This record gives sequence, C-alpha cells and structure tokens, in this order.
Amino acid sequence: MEGNKRWVDGALQHPDRDPERRQFVAEEQKPYGVIVSCIDSRVPPELLFDTGIGDLFVMRTGGQVVAPVVTGSVEYGPLTAGTPLIVVLGHQRCGAIKAAYSALKDDKPLPGNLQSIVEALRPAYQEISRQKHTDPVDAMIRVHVKQTAADLRSNADLAPLVKKGDLAVVSAYYSLDTGRVEVLTGAPAA
Ligand SMILES: [Zn+2]
Repeated sequence: MEGNKRWVDGALQHPDRDPERRQFVAEEQKPYGVIVSCIDSRVPPELLFDTGIGDLFVMRTGGQVVAPVVTGSVEYGPLTAGTPLIVVLGHQRCGAIKAAYSALKDDKPLPGNLQSIVEALRPAYQEISRQKHTDPVDAMIRVHVKQTAADLRSNADLAPLVKKGDLAVVSAYYSLDTGRVEVLTGAPAA
C-alpha cells in the first residue's frame, strides 16, 4: 500500500530494479506477495505497487478469474515459499467484466474461449442480480474479487495457512481515475 501511495503521488522509487537486486535474487526468490489481477494494459501490478524483481508473484487473466491452473499458480508461493499475502485485484471499468455482464444479461454467449471467462464470472453476476445497483458492472467487479478471495481463503490447500495466521487473502479494487488501490476484504491485522 505504501508503494501504491507513491504511484498515486507520482513519487515512484522503482525499488529492487538494479543489478545488485538481480544478482541477489538470481539463486533464490522469496516474494512477499501474490497478485491476481486483470490483463488490462492499464493495470500492471509491478507499476501500481511500485515494486521490482523478486517482490511479487503475478497472475493476470481477463477479469482476474481463476481456474485450476491459475489457482495452482496462486498457491505456489504460499505453499512452497511461505509467501504471506495474496491480493485479488479488480479494477474500475473492467472490459472483461462488462462484456461478461452483457453476455449473461442478454443470454448471448461470447465466441470461443471467451465464454469460459464469462462462465467463471457467473457467480458474481448471480449475486449482483439479487439487488438493484446504480452501476451493476462496478458492483460485479467488487463482488467478483470478494468471492474469489473468499474461495481461495477457504480452499483445502490454503485454509490451514490462513487459520495459522501465516497467510492473508485480500480483495482489492484499483481506480483507473486516481491510481489508488482500495482494500475491500481480508486485510491482515496491523
Ligand atoms: Zn479488466
């Protein structure tokens, strides 16, 4: 969050990006966080958290959806290297979630593999459909990251780490307008 504040303020430090850092992590990595975010070209985690190499495991999929192969990659750090933090990061005006919302609302499947992203977003769509929202797509973005973080927190592999206090799974929302990351659920106690 300190790195994100530097990004918002235009006071980047570009940490961990020099040759010394490269050599320091060449033999072994010990990142402090896992980020699951969208493929959106405006949401690169390393930039918006002002990090460098060896700092983060980063997974990016359309609408930051996870499926078994992605979940395995998310679990890799916590299960093998003791990474203590997973952040599921959604963002404002997400094109993937907007397209999925329309596809589900109009019952018009998207072509080819895109529909698998739509299906992964169906639970979020169903949840927001139970209530009226002034901005249903934005509500779906927020609900989806909360659901995804909750699913990861309670899955058979990660739940024991969470229970021991060795892992936090956080949902968060990135504003394209301000650059600010807002934590929604799962923030570890300070
Ligand atoms: Zn997106």
